[in-house]
Amino acid sequence: MSLSSKTKEIVKHFEFKFSKNFGQNFLIDQNVLDNIINAAQLSKDTCAIEIGPGIGTLTQEMAKRSRKVVTIEIDDTLIPVLNETLSDFDNIKILHEDAMKIDFNKLIMDEGLESPNLVANLPYYITTPIITKILTENTGINRIVIMIQKEVADRIVAKPDTKEYGALSLLCQYYSDVSKICKVPPSSFIPQPKVESAVIKMDIRKEPSVKVADEKLFFRIIRDSFNMRRKTLWNTLKQLGIEEEKLKEALEEAGIDPKRRGETLSIEEFGKLSDCIKNRM
Ligand code: SAM
Repeated sequence: MSLSSKTKEIVKHFEFKFSKNFGQNFLIDQNVLDNIINAAQLSKDTCAIEIGPGIGTLTQEMAKRSRKVVTIEIDDTLIPVLNETLSDFDNIKILHEDAMKIDFNKLIMDEGLESPNLVANLPYYITTPIITKILTENTGINRIVIMIQKEVADRIVAKPDTKEYGALSLLCQYYSDVSKICKVPPSSFIPQPKVESAVIKMDIRKEPSVKVADEKLFFRIIRDSFNMRRKTLWNTLKQLGIEEEKLKEALEEAGIDPKRRGETLSIEEFGKLSDCIKNRM
């Protein structure tokens, strides 16, 4: 039976009502499922975490290829469905929780998941907060393979001086090596979302891609640069409140023209600039 027919049958059998609030669009495209699983490079020696299993389509494929899978689902009405669809597996733990409230460090330790891979067809309303949470909480997650809106995927992999390049690109490219796996049309889901989707892979780096003396300052400069996208770096950086002479020196030492706009800077340039400013604060 095709994935599409199987999904429709389960939805009908359990009289499941899709919730827009929970971003429920279930995957019914076998090719996309295979692409996600292949990109995740799972193995029986490693564990995996999933956010939002839905009726367990991706979960089952993950469990076949992992030592253990912990899957986190917020929706009460899906728990009995999952208890049935995943009943053949003894290596899946279903957590009935809000993924945004999970302490991933604690979960990984309590469940003995050591360097797990995170795989998910994410509910789109929490895409950016969940990515930010996982990247900044130093969780020990090894690799992230997620389906997200195509527009957000484009921002994550964007290069300097493009309209997609922004604070999210730099955050993701600081903590991980990012790549786009495939585009996914609305017809790959039921119900169909209004937007196109994409699968991306983020291999979490042991060390960030640039070494900076003060991460807070580094990300503040990035945030300010993109909040005021049309302003020159000079005008953006003046808001930091450091003396103009020192700011001039810092830009000179970093080899960056103050008339450039922040959106043209590479991650290495943001790193160098923030260190040169830090030395003068
Ligand atoms: N993995 C399934 C699939 O690919 O068909 C379902 C994906 S669907 C896009 C998103 C899933 O995330 C739904 O099952 C939804 O109930 C669940 N979800 C939404 N918000 C959540 C949250 N805050 N924490 C955990 N799960 C959540």
